[in-house]
Amino acid sequence: MNVNQSAPPVPPFGQPQPVYPGYHQSSYGGQPGSTAPATPYGAYNGPVPGYQQPPPPGVSRAPSSSGAPPASIAQAPCGQGAYGQFGQGDVQNGPSSTVQMQRLPGSQPFGSAPLAPVVSQPTVSYGPPPTSSQVTAQLAGMQISGAMAPAPPPSGLGYGPPTSLASASGSFPNSGLYGSYAQAQGHSGAQPPQRSAPPQASSFTPPASGVPRMPSMTGPPLPGQGFGGPPVSQPNHVSSPPPQALHPGTQLSGLPGPPPPMHSSQQPGYQLQQNGSFGPARGPQPNYGSPYQAAPTFGSQPGPPQPLPPKRLDPDAIPSPIQVIEDDRNNRGSEPFVTGVRGQVPPLVTTNFLVKDQGNASPRYIRCTSYNIPCTSDMAKQAQVPLAAVIKPLARLPPEEALPYVVDHGESGPLRCNRCKAYMCPFMQFIEGGRRFQCCFCSCINDVPPQYFQHLDHTGKRVDAYDRPELSLGSYEFLATVDYCKNNKFPSPPAFIFMIDVSYNAIRSGLVRLLCEELKSLLDFLPREGGAEESAIRVGFVTYNKVLHFYNVKGSLAQPQMMVVSDVADMFVPLLDGFLVNVSESRAVITSLLDQIPEMFADTRETETVFAPVIQAGMEALKAAECAGKLFLFHTSLPIAEAPGKLKNRDDRKLINTDKEKTLFQPQTGAYQSLAKDCVAQGCCVDLFLFPNQYVDVATLSVVPQLTGGSVYKYTCFQVENDQERFLSDLRRDVQKVVGFDAVMRVRTSTGIRAIDFFGAFYMSNTTDVELAGLDGDKTVTVEFKHDDRLNEESGALLQCALLYTSCAGQRRLRIHNLALNCCTQLADLYRNCETDTLINYMAKFAYRGVLNNPVKSVRDTLITQCAQILACYRKNCASPSSAGQLILPECMKLLPVYLNCVLKSDVLQPGAEVTTDDRAYVRQLVTSMDVAETNVFFYPRLLPLTKSPIESTTEPPAVRASEERLSNGDIYLLENGLNLFLWVGASVQQGVVQSLFNISSFSQIPSGLSILPVLDNPLSKKVRGLIDSLRAQRSRYMKLIVVKQEDKLEMLFKHFLVEDKSLNGGASYVDFLCHMHKEIRQLLS
Ligand SMILES: [Zn+2]
Repeated sequence: MNVNQSAPPVPPFGQPQPVYPGYHQSSYGGQPGSTAPATPYGAYNGPVPGYQQPPPPGVSRAPSSSGAPPASIAQAPCGQGAYGQFGQGDVQNGPSSTVQMQRLPGSQPFGSAPLAPVVSQPTVSYGPPPTSSQVTAQLAGMQISGAMAPAPPPSGLGYGPPTSLASASGSFPNSGLYGSYAQAQGHSGAQPPQRSAPPQASSFTPPASGVPRMPSMTGPPLPGQGFGGPPVSQPNHVSSPPPQALHPGTQLSGLPGPPPPMHSSQQPGYQLQQNGSFGPARGPQPNYGSPYQAAPTFGSQPGPPQPLPPKRLDPDAIPSPIQVIEDDRNNRGSEPFVTGVRGQVPPLVTTNFLVKDQGNASPRYIRCTSYNIPCTSDMAKQAQVPLAAVIKPLARLPPEEALPYVVDHGESGPLRCNRCKAYMCPFMQFIEGGRRFQCCFCSCINDVPPQYFQHLDHTGKRVDAYDRPELSLGSYEFLATVDYCKNNKFPSPPAFIFMIDVSYNAIRSGLVRLLCEELKSLLDFLPREGGAEESAIRVGFVTYNKVLHFYNVKGSLAQPQMMVVSDVADMFVPLLDGFLVNVSESRAVITSLLDQIPEMFADTRETETVFAPVIQAGMEALKAAECAGKLFLFHTSLPIAEAPGKLKNRDDRKLINTDKEKTLFQPQTGAYQSLAKDCVAQGCCVDLFLFPNQYVDVATLSVVPQLTGGSVYKYTCFQVENDQERFLSDLRRDVQKVVGFDAVMRVRTSTGIRAIDFFGAFYMSNTTDVELAGLDGDKTVTVEFKHDDRLNEESGALLQCALLYTSCAGQRRLRIHNLALNCCTQLADLYRNCETDTLINYMAKFAYRGVLNNPVKSVRDTLITQCAQILACYRKNCASPSSAGQLILPECMKLLPVYLNCVLKSDVLQPGAEVTTDDRAYVRQLVTSMDVAETNVFFYPRLLPLTKSPIESTTEPPAVRASEERLSNGDIYLLENGLNLFLWVGASVQQGVVQSLFNISSFSQIPSGLSILPVLDNPLSKKVRGLIDSLRAQRSRYMKLIVVKQEDKLEMLFKHFLVEDKSLNGGASYVDFLCHMHKEIRQLLS
């Protein structure tokens, strides 16, 4: 094979990287990546050690110090609802059809699977293997029946036919055995994990191993039995030595001997509580049996001992996200991640680590669902593990990491393969003494142009390999030649146009005044490149309600001039000269305009607005100026004025849980789609800031931002005093963001696999090119791959992502990211090299797109089925035979059930009564572009106890699991998910703590819904405020703080984020869902 398998050897880590003479390093000033240590908004352009070039054509941001002030700390804007945006997505395929699982003749024993204990494995016959569709049907049936069943016995098993359930539940009350398990568990820490056995699997035995075992069951296992698993087939477990305690996270792997049981710590008499319900039919379900609609508290109830609460599995015995995150931090956080080896799984996104580029793109740019992909499509289908990459081409890097070098090949431009057009990269193989090279993607032999010729060393490597980024690094940039420019003309610098709604609501809320005031200073911090003194970006201003007002702000004028266009049906731009200007040349006129706007419209009575014509006007203005750019729209209401794109209120919550629910996510007119297409052609990206007081049809208004690579922000019921900090912080960040304009992204792959599907905020007019009017450092494009042909273990698989874009200074560039993956013929290798966080990112995006065209219920079913198939395939092929009552999870995927459950119970897929249609559309659209770190914390929020660790400790306190039972009423906690931030105060918290934090003498006096902590001079106050700042700095959007008191009515909102608990709207608890997954898996295996 002439295809290189791995990145060329690289100088050992630690060694200074070579200096590339003549290569510029683009300075993408960026804020630290989201995984980077919390750094205050604004550390741009860190020095790059080791490289001595002048930071050339890069885009740099204004230093925050001089820039718009970073969000102030103590002042949390009061917030609105959790979300504020909308979305509309790439409309494409729905969920994949369920694939019937293929069974292998017999399982393939893998050395690595945990051995079953004594297990004499009674063959349990569960009836004919269900097809996946049957499974789905059964599931659906179950849920329904479960939900409607006459109140199950108190501790009843929620799913499944009541009848058989009875016996099942009867067998659960555990006896002493449980007690001993629990004890074992308590001591588990002391028991050295036995690792002799094959790693990579986590196994659980149902607690049911307890005494009264069920006689072996026939027929499909009942839902309720899940995990607790029908004691059924496991007689042996009972007698086997007390299984080792299961430590979530760590030693799950490779426990020889008895698979760790899933024991519950409960006392005798406790029963599994499985009253969650799975599957789709969950929304508000009037028919829920009494146990379901329970008490305001889901999950367990802390507090005074109650008369034997319903029994449940011990949550400590099931895989813990917190433990997995901690372990990865401990194991992988100290060493840099060096990218020289093919197929290496990077540390988790929750781990802080540095990256050394030695031939493959940093995981900050590309993360894959698996780094070892099956050689054949049959294998891939069998495993059902999606093969996808989450790509963030312009990701920001922490200051310690080198930014991509810019390579200038002069007029000849970047060197490419003649056939597939792939760009020169470290995997290309030079042959014939260096005169030719063979393409690593398509195998075509190409001549090396004379000016690029170089001799090879004895290993066949070019002697200049380490002097050239494109021959030694995973990521770099090429300066593009005029051939890569529209109309064969180098682009002009981009422009920003601020388009401000001045209708009654916008004026009355104080928004217009606040915004105009802010812009006066913010305009000094437009994105710049390299050491440029000022930004090359020109600016323009439009205000509007039912008509549009354009402003001439030419520097030579004494006062700005307004031109009104009332013919919104046929939008045109009334002026060219003086509309787009350089800020410094027109500063006085701009300042005057911004002073005047709030006054001019102060007495407006106009409540109606237009929307599409505003975008059209901005796009036309850019077209007339022959440049790309960005529109910043500040909009308040449903555009009902007579004009193209006029909308009507079509919100209808009654559609939820019907086949028409999907229409709530679809745009109500196709007008915005075609407008978006025109915008993309012009390189016109649209960022939308919404300030709605009621329904504004986010699903429709977000179509253009979504298709142009823009962002949507939503501030419901905006009030200056409560929300200004959040809005201004988002605005400052958004305006200062480095953006690539008028971009096209193409992902090439080596022979055998092909990119077949894309998710994100962009437009596609063919099947391969991702068109982005704008792309910023927060946005990802997720790409799914399928097999075309057989892959080869030796050569592996290669990806090359090429992004052609215009920089903020108007320079045309190509950013290239390369990544080599391994290929396998053994399923175990696939399961050993998966990344669950990335898998969840993909699955969430897949599902969120699916709801556009499918009933939400079927989308949920598809997810559950796929997850069960993935895990069943592992169980069947990679884990050694063991009792069917055991749940065995691949080590790398042991969090798949808990995270998937979070996706299933998210607002888009299972809305609670308080979630509006606009919120759902907004979140749906947001998730579409999220990176892996963002989806991770969004679906499984971080919950930090504040008074448990020593006050002087400066590190972030260790998180606890997102469950009510982890809350102690004598403590306070912060919870964040990237969009929301809560401070929960326990009712028994010490008075001193209350005083230190709130300057109030007692818990009862803390105002409900407080959103700002007073700035007090004591260690606790400083620590908590500092932590809040740090959390905010890690996220791409400002999180408004909401103080929640225990037992206060706001607590319901907070509990919505305790995702391991059963949710009020029917979302299953983690324990229940795991049981359900187990049942699904057993059905597939039987
Ligand atoms: Zn090629």
